[in-house]
Amino acid sequence: MTPTETSTLIPPCGGRLVDLMVAPEALDDLKARTNRLPSLQLSERSVCDLELLATGAFSPLDRFMGREDHQHVVEEMRLTNGYVFPIPITLPVEPGADIRLDQQIALRDARNELLAIMTVEEIYEWDRDEVAQRVFGTLDLRHPLVAEMHRWGKLNLSGRLQVLQLPRHYDFRDLRLTPAQTRARLEQFGRRNVVAFQTRNPLHRVHEELTKRATQEVDGVLLLHPVVGMTKPGDVDHYTRVRTYKALAQRYYDPGRILLSLLPLAMRLAGPREALWHALIRRNHGANYLIVGRDHAGPGKDSKGNRFYGPYDAQELVGGFRDELGVGVVPFRALVYLPDEGRYEEISKIPPQVRTASISGTQVREEYLNNGRKLPDWFTRPEVAEILSETYPPRHRQGVCVWFTGLSGAGKSTTAEVLTVLLLEHGRQVTVLDGDVVRTHLSKGLGFSKEDRDTNIRRIGFVAAEIVRHGGTAVCAAVSPYRATRNDVRNMVGKDHFVEVFVDTPLEVCEQRDAKGLYAKARRGEIKGFTGIDDPYEPPRHAEITLDTVTHTPEGNAHLILDYLIQQGFVRLQVVPDEDESQQPATPVASAGRHR
Ligand code: ADP
Ligand code: ADP
Repeated sequence: MTPTETSTLIPPCGGRLVDLMVAPEALDDLKARTNRLPSLQLSERSVCDLELLATGAFSPLDRFMGREDHQHVVEEMRLTNGYVFPIPITLPVEPGADIRLDQQIALRDARNELLAIMTVEEIYEWDRDEVAQRVFGTLDLRHPLVAEMHRWGKLNLSGRLQVLQLPRHYDFRDLRLTPAQTRARLEQFGRRNVVAFQTRNPLHRVHEELTKRATQEVDGVLLLHPVVGMTKPGDVDHYTRVRTYKALAQRYYDPGRILLSLLPLAMRLAGPREALWHALIRRNHGANYLIVGRDHAGPGKDSKGNRFYGPYDAQELVGGFRDELGVGVVPFRALVYLPDEGRYEEISKIPPQVRTASISGTQVREEYLNNGRKLPDWFTRPEVAEILSETYPPRHRQGVCVWFTGLSGAGKSTTAEVLTVLLLEHGRQVTVLDGDVVRTHLSKGLGFSKEDRDTNIRRIGFVAAEIVRHGGTAVCAAVSPYRATRNDVRNMVGKDHFVEVFVDTPLEVCEQRDAKGLYAKARRGEIKGFTGIDDPYEPPRHAEITLDTVTHTPEGNAHLILDYLIQQGFVRLQVVPDEDESQQPATPVASAGRHR
């Protein structure tokens, strides 16, 4: 590698990488001073933005935007100095925060770790609807960023930044490269062209094909640059994704042609504008090409069911800035699998009547992972399939909470006991959280005031949620008389894993049973605030299951619940030994078609 070759990477936007890090020798002095400064705790998004500002990923931007830059960016996708910049990077705060002009403030993360000192040079109002409309093209609250902006402060802060410490990351340390480090590594490949691939999803064979083709096309190096900051709500978590990227980069790519590096970006899902921003960020990392696919950085559908952005808007916008930005678009051409030939091909090159195969993202989750079916090799590499199946075990190994509610004496504990035995018989591990029992330890000392009852229920809910998160079965039986509290618990556990069972026994029947003699006492006024007597019971409106204990036995009811759990996939009817999945036909075609 000669020096001329090392300098052939595209220079950063603005000619040099912004670097906001304080020199090591000045650190102690500055840190000592911050003790006396007011602090501002940053949101997760602002922490991501600060990191990319500090390392020059947003070059030539060197601060959260001031009023003029902000206005220019919103209106024209340019900073006041003329450089392209399509996304506003702002630091919103609520009015009333004790922050004044010309003052220094300490910026801290959620754990109160000191990150930077800002000299407040501007405090200005911004117009949420204007930003939503002009930057995101919509006011629709289905757009995750538009919805999020409703929670942002009404004032923006701007001013010089002195960064004392980058946000700390403890995971995948060797893959977290700043723009300068990325450039240094890329230069070692000795190639001029670098094609970046932006992603927030696990990579399957089709992505592998596409990135390899793109690398070949430009005869360059692939910068595999997944986002590990904030992506779309509901995405596969970054720990799982990065494990898949590592496996792929190590085993399936030419090591002389790939650099895997993680980008702590907080995505905005702004479609075309976001794609242009991605191009700019990648240029700062040394890439002169970006792969841009259909609906790049799109947030899905709006409240009317339409896409927020046209499928090729992003490619067009980035393509239009090609000369100015110096980053070429490699369009993500749709590839499909040809089972008869065992290879991928561009849709446009496939003759009619040729058999094709594909599996959609929804099918991956619902038909394969939830059912414990192994994803086929033609679709994804076995290492990736394995990692995904660890994160998304089949439903019968996912957690579930069965929550009994009803009057005292309705039959919650009795039915729960039978259900527990049946679940054990079917191979599930069960923890029973019975109100009466829990009140002797976890909730000892709590009484029956509304507050205490809510506390009791939330404690049970918290424990149940942890059990469910770790794949267990929590069977909870507590009166839980208040609807709002039960709904909170449902949200704590997660809606898809919560089965509310309303034990709908009439008060007269419970009172007649009066196993513990409590109703009699309540009627005599010896117990106050007894549910059903002088304290309300709010029956569920949408319980998954409602039980009748007058005409059904506890055993019959327990079987009703078991059947429901079987039908939902949480319980397997019979445990059959695992089939050797590799015995499946080579191409189980989930969705096969004839190409027209
Ligand atoms: P809870 O837990 O709802 O306070 P328990 O299960 O402790 O109620 O008490 C219910 C009482 O009703 C038990 O004594 C039980 O034997 C009796 N019982 C009678 N029929 C039924 C039925 N079909 N289901 C449940 N319990 C019943
Ligand atoms: P909660 O949802 O109200 O916390 P628990 O199931 O934890 O309900 O406790 C309710 C049990 O406590 C009842 O089954 C009954 O045996 C007993 N109990 C004592 N006082 C009351 C009361 N005032 N209201 C309801 N249950 C009471």
